[in-house]
Amino acid sequence: MSDKQNPEEQCAPMFDGGLYVFLMRLQAPQPVQIGALGLFDFPEGWYLYTGRAKQNLAKRVERHWSLKEKLHWHIDYLATAPSSEPVGAIVIPDSAGLSECFLNQEIGKKFGGQIPAPNFGASDCKNGCPTHLFFSPAPVSLLAMAQIHPEAAVLIPQAGIWEPPLHKL
Ligand SMILES: [Zn+2]
Repeated sequence: MSDKQNPEEQCAPMFDGGLYVFLMRLQAPQPVQIGALGLFDFPEGWYLYTGRAKQNLAKRVERHWSLKEKLHWHIDYLATAPSSEPVGAIVIPDSAGLSECFLNQEIGKKFGGQIPAPNFGASDCKNGCPTHLFFSPAPVSLLAMAQIHPEAAVLIPQAGIWEPPLHKL
């Protein structure tokens, strides 16, 4: 064993399973085929996608800003669009007891509830969510998103995790 810390371990969050809201930006409007869901015209602006990973939460979130060989989730198609730029994500541990759909609907209310692609990420949703992807034409900040729950932490590509309390940043 080396004394040097593994950077991946350094960046790992304190919890394994939880909810996340991925924030990405499209720098230009463009049509994108979202797998079997269909072809949609996505405007230029900010996109918020809410999901949950039962385990390996950090890996799931990192997948959203890494190159993908296989497009699997609806968000993979949008995240690999040519003008797409990942901003980061907030993560909330399962121990917070928050439901994925409740978080999704709160995010929609607070950060521009526009729906560019009905049913996006919501195929298995049993809680009446019209989508798990919301759009905002105005900039959205990760720190503002993190205010949605006291246990929310922020993940940024290449920078690891920022844990609460975020007001000290
Ligand atoms: Zn839902």
